[in-house]
Amino acid sequence: MFRKILIANRGEIACRIIRTCQRLGIKTVAVHSEADANALFVREADEAHLIGPAPAAQSYLRGDTIIEVARRTGAEAIHPGYGFLSENAEFAESCATAGIVFIGPKPEAIRAMALKGAAKALMEDAGVPVTPGYHGDAQDEATLLAAARRIGFPVLIKAVAGGGGKGMRRVDNESDFPELLKSCQGEGQSAFGDPRVLIEKYIEVPRHIEIQLFADSHGHAVHLHERDCSLQRRHQKVIEEAPAPGLPDAMRQAMGEAAVKAAKAIGYTGAGTIEFIVDMSRGIADASFYFMEMNTRLQVEHPVTEAITGLDLVEWQLRVAAGEALPLTQDQVPLKGHAIEARLYAEDPEHDFMPSTGTLSRLVFPSGVRADSAVAEGDAVSVFYDPMIAKLIVHGPDRDAALEGLRTALIHTRAEGLRTNLGFLRRIASDADFRAGEIDTGFIGRHLERLTAPWPDYDIPVNSPPSPWHDATGFRLNLPPASPVDVRHLTNALHEAHEASEVVAPMPGLVVAVHVKEGDTVEKNQPLIVLEAMKIQLTLKAPRAGTVTGLNAVTGEQVIEKAVLAAIT
Ligand code: ADP
Repeated sequence: MFRKILIANRGEIACRIIRTCQRLGIKTVAVHSEADANALFVREADEAHLIGPAPAAQSYLRGDTIIEVARRTGAEAIHPGYGFLSENAEFAESCATAGIVFIGPKPEAIRAMALKGAAKALMEDAGVPVTPGYHGDAQDEATLLAAARRIGFPVLIKAVAGGGGKGMRRVDNESDFPELLKSCQGEGQSAFGDPRVLIEKYIEVPRHIEIQLFADSHGHAVHLHERDCSLQRRHQKVIEEAPAPGLPDAMRQAMGEAAVKAAKAIGYTGAGTIEFIVDMSRGIADASFYFMEMNTRLQVEHPVTEAITGLDLVEWQLRVAAGEALPLTQDQVPLKGHAIEARLYAEDPEHDFMPSTGTLSRLVFPSGVRADSAVAEGDAVSVFYDPMIAKLIVHGPDRDAALEGLRTALIHTRAEGLRTNLGFLRRIASDADFRAGEIDTGFIGRHLERLTAPWPDYDIPVNSPPSPWHDATGFRLNLPPASPVDVRHLTNALHEAHEASEVVAPMPGLVVAVHVKEGDTVEKNQPLIVLEAMKIQLTLKAPRAGTVTGLNAVTGEQVIEKAVLAAIT
């Protein structure tokens, strides 16, 4: 195993890699830009070196400078994280030339997967199902239009060098084709330096399900099951979970086998992900899945796989790069329970998700939940890089439990000082359709209005003193601490007339106390019912003075969210 490695990255993933290295007794070298001089990962690494000004092109993308620092500091290997140089074949080659191990696949494997068209052709030859379409060399309009006709509209034109959701055009009919082709070719050229495109059948109701792969240099390859990343906003992942809701075992197995076949076809080593698009038009049980692309690096969402397998994927990456064999065979890879990850961003969902910058005056995560953070309280989020603040990962025995855990964790997360998507994440985690597993990549777009509605404010008393949730008492989003629960805040989905008279469960939970009985006369704000979920107790109070009617809460019984528990008349 290595004694010292350099991390050619920043933020959350740099912190993540440092954690595993510390556990394994490996020293870490951070490289950073001027803007990151006081960043969390710089503070946490054993040593840190300035490599340039804030813009990534002058710092985190300077492969030559980074290799020079690795040489000078005696780092034996470089972990590229994700983004930046992680899928740069030339950088991997330069590392090898300098006698430094690149913690990732061989340059040839990175190249084989870099262009979407070539990757599809390779996968087709390996017997992996690919999205029906055209990915040939001829690029004249007549050939491409003929291909689109054959495939049938709607089609998707994709820049072969595209990435990050850029360089894609949906075309609904033939007359729009020439113009959209031109604009896609133009974007391919300007953003990626390559005007070539491919044409694909446009899958109208898709799910994005990807397989985590690992291969070593001894010819072994295994998959670590799937992740469902269908909850996307403009092709960017927001929530990821594993296993994929409703995925039949046979399909899981077929996808896993196809992914392993793909890895073997290119002599892959290290961690990789095969992304599949799943056509949901006939439901999940009869769905077809198609290879979309391979990411030749660790993914942002790898923690959900760690949660369901109990494995440390960064440790596996280090072991494979050091020449060790994979620690487990396919049969030995565990699959336990269900895990969900939510990405907390410095952005403003109420204003078209505009990125937000500033200092995090308060940042608190509940205990018992994995929070992979890029920053600590008091740190700044700058304009130069990805606005991700942290990822919250929750694991439970099943999907319902994991979802409830996520929802509760999000409710008790505090991120103040700038705008964040916390309310949006809380809305998603509480959404009945999402909870029912009715997801596809269009889910967020379709329900944007209800998912970006401001999160209602209410206070949450906490009953276990050592918990950081303790300080949640009186908490209100963007408002001074609240007086006792006012249920009117909780029911603003409901009609005016009902607002003042109904007592509604704001969260699913267990009824732990009922202080009144049918026919009792109560004062406004008199405690009526106490609900509990995880470690939180919530006291529901009378919205007005009157008589209790329609009492529908029994101590010891579970209630669902938005259940009407009583009325005051
Ligand atoms: P990028 O490399 O830019 O991330 P991908 O090929 O991975 O592009 O596709 C990104 C997203 O676009 C997918 O997760 C999916 O939501 C959507 N997408 C890709 N291909 C298709 C298709 N053929 N039909 C419908 N949606 C697609």
